[in-house]
Amino acid sequence: MIITAGRVVTPARVFAPGWLHVEGRQVVAVGAGTPPAPADVELAGTVAPGFIDVHVHGGGGASFDDGAEAAEQVLAAHLAHGTTSMVASLVTMEPHRLDHTIKELALLADDGRLAGIHLEGPWLSPQYRGAHRPDLLEEPSARRVDELVELAGPHLRMVTLAPELPGGLDAIRRLTSAGVVAAIGHTDATYDVARRALDAGALVGTHLFNAMRGLHHREPGPIAALLEHPDAFVELIADGVHLHPAVLRLATDAKPHHTALVTDAMAAATQPDGDYRLGSLAVQVRGGQARLPDGTIAGSTLTLADAVRYAVLEVGLPIEEAVRAATATPAAMLGLHGVGTLRPGSEADLVALGPDLRVTRVMKAGSWL
Ligand SMILES: [Zn+2]
Repeated sequence: MIITAGRVVTPARVFAPGWLHVEGRQVVAVGAGTPPAPADVELAGTVAPGFIDVHVHGGGGASFDDGAEAAEQVLAAHLAHGTTSMVASLVTMEPHRLDHTIKELALLADDGRLAGIHLEGPWLSPQYRGAHRPDLLEEPSARRVDELVELAGPHLRMVTLAPELPGGLDAIRRLTSAGVVAAIGHTDATYDVARRALDAGALVGTHLFNAMRGLHHREPGPIAALLEHPDAFVELIADGVHLHPAVLRLATDAKPHHTALVTDAMAAATQPDGDYRLGSLAVQVRGGQARLPDGTIAGSTLTLADAVRYAVLEVGLPIEEAVRAATATPAAMLGLHGVGTLRPGSEADLVALGPDLRVTRVMKAGSWL
């Protein structure tokens, strides 16, 4: 199948106009100008790799926390909006429930339906817990770290933790040596502790700026440590609620190739305002903003397509940078192979965007939705 488009963002290159040759579930060629054969599908707008969301709790009225059936609903809701790969984020919950949910989601990951699992908690700072239940937060123990690594098998992709907790740095070392990405988040870490966490192998800053010690000129905390580290990746929630556009520009300017847009979406993504849950906490969604009764932000109602659109139209990022932050960068961050770029041999996961950057068509593994 030959697809032509006004613009193909690979995202390493922008071909305008561009074309793609897809065979079966793979991209076999991509280029600029006149395609090698007549087009089967002609698109006026932009074609990009399918979006990759590495921090998402829910959508379509359902949450990954609720197991396999709910997960299918989340996957379908975000897929319809152009997210073709997702890593399921689980909030802090009771240990037996977490174990059960991990087992169910690992089966979906075995089938390739899910790109992996991200544990956000229970090893988080009580001061920066956000929408995590305080009574379930714990200090990491070597035994529990090893247990969870074992339970999730190869599908545990990332764990967010507060490195300043007793046992925090040891947990980072254990996770890293097991091939799991350790992420710094929901943390009161000082700059020095964050540096030590990075030295121990931590690679990511979870939703940078949100739910962490702020940037102070005499105690720059985890934000400066992450931004100045050449290898570290940072997640940003580009929904116009979590971060000011100027802060998004600051981070993307500091780390043009290490910034990943994430949604941190909860069940209400793609759904109307109303009353929802995040883990076992009640969340009210009003005007698209998800908050606990006390006003604490409780995830977002974003799709990654909304985030890309916001990053281009409101933050002013060039399209290829915004697309990279939602495709190639998150894939590199978590070692997801064959996705996130359009080049010969990559998975034919595509999103087509109209002139207003709204999603018009989605292809997953060579098939249009
Ligand atoms: Zn969080």
